[in-house]
Order: sequence, then structure tokens, then C-alpha cells
Amino acid sequence: MTEAGQTADAHAGQPGSADSDLMSKFDPLIAERQALLDSGVTDPFSIVMEQVKSPTEAVISGKDTILLGTYNYMGMTFDPDVVQAGKDALDQFGSGTNGSRMLNGTFRDHMGVEQALRDFYGMSGAIVFSTGYMANLGMISTLAGKGEYVILDADSHASIYDGCKQGYADIVRFRHNSVEDLDKRLGRLPKEPGKLVVLEGVYSMLGDIAPLKEMVEVSKKHGAMVLVDEAHSMGFFGPNGRGVYEDQGLDDQVDFVVGTFSKSVGTVGGFCVSNHPKFEAIRLACRPYIFTASLPPSVVATAETSIRKLMHAHEKRARLWDNARKLHGGLKEMGFRLGTETPDSAIVAVILDDQEQAVAMWQALLESGLYVNMARPPATPAGTYLLRCSLCAEHSPEQVDKVLAMFKAAGTATGAIR
Ligand code: PMP
Repeated sequence: MTEAGQTADAHAGQPGSADSDLMSKFDPLIAERQALLDSGVTDPFSIVMEQVKSPTEAVISGKDTILLGTYNYMGMTFDPDVVQAGKDALDQFGSGTNGSRMLNGTFRDHMGVEQALRDFYGMSGAIVFSTGYMANLGMISTLAGKGEYVILDADSHASIYDGCKQGYADIVRFRHNSVEDLDKRLGRLPKEPGKLVVLEGVYSMLGDIAPLKEMVEVSKKHGAMVLVDEAHSMGFFGPNGRGVYEDQGLDDQVDFVVGTFSKSVGTVGGFCVSNHPKFEAIRLACRPYIFTASLPPSVVATAETSIRKLMHAHEKRARLWDNARKLHGGLKEMGFRLGTETPDSAIVAVILDDQEQAVAMWQALLESGLYVNMARPPATPAGTYLLRCSLCAEHSPEQVDKVLAMFKAAGTATGAIR
């Protein structure tokens, strides 16, 4: 439980007193944020993009800024075909669907994007949700029911944890990326009940990848089904860009793959694909699929076009990996502590000593014209403060050089490196 939650509990439930104000539980959070602002820094969580010029450049506080903290891995947001598909759908189908997929909210392009997903993944089933968050919420809570088990990595994304909370299955956590711990915990469970092991291809905070091959093998040994969230790998891992599971040769061994349109695809939405012959039944039972409006036609049209282009984006994939290697190598050489020893993904996380140093670095970078993600507990593992860099296929080598120079200057000025 967070410190804020504990404080609230200690004062709860005195009718009529100021403490009965439900909002008083947030006082410690408000005070912490105020103390940060009083120290004279820009709030890292209130950035406004005043203008977006390309997948890698925006105007922030009137200043041209290189974007190194978006999930626009493949740079599809300004692709002319993608943008045109959205405009055409707006003209032909209007701005929204006004209803659930189950009722009036399935338009031509919802069917089109689901077919594009089947083609992209080479799987027989695809279901689109309104966000990736809702895909995890819906799939996990619907697949694993009362008396069954969800087994998840301790560093799982919030949407995976929330999917567990939304359902009625028993939850078992294993140590991050530990095949041994997964094996041990699965071994302690009763044999009969259904089990769902939930993994991620790339873990988004440190940018490290899962040993999926070994984990899937252990899961199958214990009779568990496997769901892999490939949010941060779609488009550039594996020969067809399907994700880490494809890269590790597990094409027919993963039962469900969850993904999002908000990263490499360049719009918004979520999905699950599967070869399970009964997969379509999810649509009949999954509350986060049924009880919400479907995505606007322009969004699904852009997603469909983008996914079809990603199937052939070999050059972009190569450029993204070049950029990741160049940034990782450069930062490492300067003496920064990084989330991974080698450039394992398109995320390069710089680990800093504490909040003060992280905020000072973040601000120095922003003032020099570079935006990166500031990440802090509870979103980060082991209480770390991170400056998270995510690369784009459209970053030019010159931009990456510039970024490295900015890191060198900011790191030296703040004492993060010598
Ligand atoms: N899964 C993972 C691993 C994520 O990192 C995210 C978002 N950062 C999501 C799911 C949710 O995706 P969306 O933005 O589409 O809700």
C-alpha cells in the first residue's frame, strides 16, 4: 500500500470531521508534488506538446524539442498513407461510432483492422479493444475465473495487475524474469485448475526482455496457458515484427498475444490475437469489450493501414535497432548506469541516484531541447528513478549524436557523470 493510502486509513471514518473528506487521502501526494514545484523545477508530469512537427520533433514551452520519450517506435504517426486513411474514414463514416462493438459499434474498418491483425500475426483470431489497457483488463479477467490461477511477473504493467483485480482468479506472482521462481510457484499449485501465465516480451521500465522460450517451456510443463503482452516489441522484434515471442521462435507455442495500437502502430487501441478455436467466445463474455464504445472509424482505419505497412517495414526495423545500439553504446561509454547491459530493445533507461538528481537531469535535458520520460516509483522496479529514452526509427543519426551531446552536458552539469 502507498504511503498516501496508509495516511488516509489512519484518519478514516469520523463522520462530520474534516477527515471524512474522501480527498484528504491525497494530502501527502499533493504536498510531495508541491515541494517538488517549490524547488523551482518544471513539473515532469505536466508537459504540453504545443505543436508536433514529426514523429521525433515537437514544440514544448515555445522551444523546438527532440522527442526521445514517446512510444512512437516505428514513426508511423505522420506516414502519409496512415494519415490519409484516417481522413477518408472521417469523411465516409463520421467522427465516432456511438456504441459498443456488440451493438451498433462495428463498422467496416473494425473488421478491416481485425483482418490486418490476423494477417500480421498469421493467427486465426483477432479481437480489438478500445485500448491496450482494456485488452489486458478484459483478457485476463475473462480467461481466468473463480478457482483458477493467474501467474504473473512481479514487474508486470499496471494493466496486467488491474486485469487480475477485475477477475476472480487467485493471483500468484513470481520474481521478475526468473524461470526458476516461475517453475517453483507453478509446481506448488494444484494440478487440476486452469492456469494462465502472463508475461511481457519487453518490460517497459528498464527495456529488458523476457526469457520467453524457457518460460513458455516451464508453463507448458505445468499445464498452464500463456498470454504474452508484446506492447513494446510489435513492429521490430522477429522476422515479421510480431514480437519477442517470434524472435525466440515460439510462433505456435503462445496461446494469446496482447498488443496495443498506441506504440508502434501510432494511434490508439488494443487487441488480442490467438489461434484458439473457441477464441471468438471472448466477445460474448468480456466486460471491457462489451460495456464500452468502440474505437472511432478514423482510428481503426489508420491502425489497419499502419499494421499492413509494418508487415514490410524491414528498413525501419533496421534503422530503429541502429539507433538503439548507438544511443546505448554512447551513454554507456559516458559512464551512465543503464537498465540493461546491452541494447536489448528500443528503450534505454538511464538509472539515477535519487529523485533530486533525476529531476535536475530531466530539467537540464529539457532546457537543452530534449524530452525524455521521467519515471519514478511506484511505476519503476526497486524504487529506482529513471530517465527513460525510447527510440524511433525516424530519429536520424545526427539527432542521436545531438542527443548524446545533450546527455553529456546535462550529466556533467548535474554531477550524474564525471
Ligand atoms: N501493456 C504494456 C506493457 C504497456 O506498457 C502499456 C502502456 N504503456 C499497455 C499495456 C497499455 O497500452 P495502451 O496505451 O494501449 O492502453
